[in-house]
Amino acid sequence: MSSRPLLCPTCDTYVRRRALPRGMRAFCPRCRSRIYDAPYCDMGGLLALVITALLLYFPANLMPILEIDLVGNLRQTTVLHGAMVVMEQGFVLVGLAVLVAGVIAPLLLLLSILTQLTLLRIGKGRDLLRWLLLHHPTLDQLSMVEIYMISLFVSIFKLVDIADLTYGWGTLCYILLFVLTFYVQYEYNRELMWQHYDEIYGD
Ligand SMILES: [Zn+2]
Repeated sequence: MSSRPLLCPTCDTYVRRRALPRGMRAFCPRCRSRIYDAPYCDMGGLLALVITALLLYFPANLMPILEIDLVGNLRQTTVLHGAMVVMEQGFVLVGLAVLVAGVIAPLLLLLSILTQLTLLRIGKGRDLLRWLLLHHPTLDQLSMVEIYMISLFVSIFKLVDIADLTYGWGTLCYILLFVLTFYVQYEYNRELMWQHYDEIYGD
């Protein structure tokens, strides 16, 4: 069992870790914040989720998400194109933020988790694994696939009366990518990854 002290992320109360049945959560006895979960899926399940998300990532980002027919004027939009248009219109910072949060960070996050799981499995690359685990919260916070989902819904809602909208494989892949990334982030348990790290390398 890990000897790493477990502190409540909200109020820093020291909590002793106990084994939880699958799907249960532990809450802080003082402030009732969520402290840790027993994950629904094991490392193999998480690996399968990450690989599926990565397979969906490329069609979701490269294929048109929406085809808009506005009185004969046909336009296709991809995620990348959307960020470029925002930048071309002079909103460079907004475009960059969209690019980082919606395109780059989610890919890096998925690749990071894939690398962590692989390194834990083969028992090699201690320094890289440690670095990835330490920097995981930053990537996790930067990654916001949902910003595109929100803008997709807003544009559908605004355009549905004045234009013909066609959805394609890109739309399906993007929605699936959104669901899978969300699920990966939910299932990923950094505390558990540190435990596996400790089991291999000790403290
Ligand atoms: Zn607390």
